[in-house]
Amino acid sequence: MIPAAPARRQFPAPGPALLPSHGWQQAWRRAVRDPAELLSLLELDTLVERVSTPAAAQFPLRVPRGFVARMRPGDPHDPLLRQVLPLDEEMRPMPGFALDAVGDAAARTGPGVIQKYRGRALLVATGSCAIHCRYCFRRHFPYAEETAARDGWRDAVQRIGDDSGIDEVILSGGDPLSLSTAKLAELTAALAGIPHLKRLRIHSRLPVVLPERVDEALLNWLQALSWPVTFVLHANHANEFDAAVDAALARLRASGALLLNQAVLLQGVNDSVDALVALSERGHAAGVLPYYLHQLDRVQGVAHFEVADARARELHAGLSERLSGYLLPRLVREIPGAPGKQPL
Ligand SMILES: *Cc1c(COP(=O)(O)O)cnc(C)c1O
Ligand code: SF4
Repeated sequence: MIPAAPARRQFPAPGPALLPSHGWQQAWRRAVRDPAELLSLLELDTLVERVSTPAAAQFPLRVPRGFVARMRPGDPHDPLLRQVLPLDEEMRPMPGFALDAVGDAAARTGPGVIQKYRGRALLVATGSCAIHCRYCFRRHFPYAEETAARDGWRDAVQRIGDDSGIDEVILSGGDPLSLSTAKLAELTAALAGIPHLKRLRIHSRLPVVLPERVDEALLNWLQALSWPVTFVLHANHANEFDAAVDAALARLRASGALLLNQAVLLQGVNDSVDALVALSERGHAAGVLPYYLHQLDRVQGVAHFEVADARARELHAGLSERLSGYLLPRLVREIPGAPGKQPL
């Protein structure tokens, strides 16, 4: 293996403001994909024995270097590391943990569109993500067949256009911001012809894990949209924020977008009142309000991240005693067939 650290010294990464417009794609491609390299960067080489080759084969490791830089070197329990490192625990079969835990297959109305809730259509714009989160319910989702991007937008847009009950489109994935801005603009241009759409929502982890993505072109695209735009970001721990993320979020806010955060309650990552208080407060300092705190979706391979319901309620009660009301996320779970996310 070529050691990564000297290479980093030779070619220091420019700050986000200095990056050329394709900077984010370069940062995307430079993501760490080799568990041994990740552990070596963190001075945790001995942890390599705990890495699961079959888990990494099923859902490969992928983590942007900027996110690695927010991990604490030498700490095997780092909450950011735990979100991305493939471990043996993932391959242990667990009763009650299924392949499609959230009923996505049943809720698809056609390729690329999932509609579960009244008024809202979720567009699976792409299957790609800049980071691979081990707990993700989408680790088994058949994206290759299911993204609206694959065969162009026409069918998905037409189905949304045909249903006047839909007033909000949610761009999701995967991560919709992994598409080029030109592709996104193509999609929103097609949606712009639908008179009953009143809101656009973007579910994305990219501004947090790869803040380079929030570049001039993206901001110009956002500013030109005619709908009010809401971002639902995804950060699980206060350490996921740094100066580059703050700057990216400030730019998003300046474009007029509303910024919310959803987190997943994860054992060993954020399952303490202190960690969750810090997450809400750090998000707020970056201009983001908490939205949901999700109980884990029970898909195969994620059981070791689960927090028992009783403990989840206890944590949430603890949060409500410490936080301003607007900094308290709603504790919810997704139940297949339910008309919305269910409060615990
Ligand atoms: C979670 C989800 C939504 C959004 O639900 P909100 O409660 O409005 O955030 C919409 N569609 C699908 C399919 C979802 O899973
Ligand atoms: S969809 Fe979200 S949670 Fe899942 S791997 Fe991608 S970024 Fe992570």
